Amino acid sequence: MALEEYRRKRDFKKTSEPPPARGPVHTDTLSYVIQKHDATRLHYDFRLELDGVLLSWAVTKGPSLNPADKRLAVRTEDHPIEYGSFEGTIPKGQYGAGTVMLWDTGTWEPVGDPHEGLKKGHLSFILHGKRLKGGWDLVRMHGDGKRENWLLIKKDDQEARRNSNGDFLESLAFSVKSGRQMEEIAQKQRRQQARRWTGCTDPAISRRTIGDACRPSTRRRRMAARN
Ligand code: MN
Repeated sequence: MALEEYRRKRDFKKTSEPPPARGPVHTDTLSYVIQKHDATRLHYDFRLELDGVLLSWAVTKGPSLNPADKRLAVRTEDHPIEYGSFEGTIPKGQYGAGTVMLWDTGTWEPVGDPHEGLKKGHLSFILHGKRLKGGWDLVRMHGDGKRENWLLIKKDDQEARRNSNGDFLESLAFSVKSGRQMEEIAQKQRRQQARRWTGCTDPAISRRTIGDACRPSTRRRRMAARN
C-alpha cells in the first residue's frame, strides 16, 4: 500500500496532520506508535514502520497485556512516518475528526521476515515502547473482503499480565509525550481557535474560560457587523 489512500481522505489545507510523504527506508531501527483517537468511536491506532510508511491498524478496545485477550485490529491505510509524532485535533468535517493523543512511542523488531508475515497474515514482533514491551502477534482473520480484520495478541512472556483486565489503559489515560489527557489536548485547540478569532494574545486565557476571558474585540465586532 502506498500513501494515496491517506492523501485521498484528507484536505491538507484544513487538517494539521502531516502531508503524505514517503520516508526513508530504515532497516535497522523501525519506529512504533500508538495514538489514542477520539473520533466517531474511540479507538487506538497501532502503527508499525515498514518501507518508509507506518502500517496501521485501528484497535477498538486498545491493546491488552493478557495473552488470553484477542483484540480486533482493523487494518487501515498506511500513514506517513511523520504521523508518528502527531498529537492534536483533526477539525470537524475532516476525516477522523476528533482528538489524537500519543499514547505510546518506541521501536519495534520483526521476528522473521515482516514482508512474508504480512503476506501470509501473521506478523510476529517485539515492541520496545515506553508502555508496551515484549512479544506480540498480529494475526489476519478470514475477512468479508471489505476490511482486513486482524487480531492483536500479547505473547505469553515476562511482559505479559495474565490476570489483567484491561484497567491499565484507564490508568494510562494521558499522553506519553505531553502528559495531557484527551480533554486537555482538545482544549488547547479550542483556545488557539479562540485566540485567532479574537486576536487575543493574553496568556492568562489559558487559565480561564475562553468565553469569559477573551471576547471579540470591539474593532473585530464592528468589522464583522459591517460585512
Ligand atoms: Mn484513527
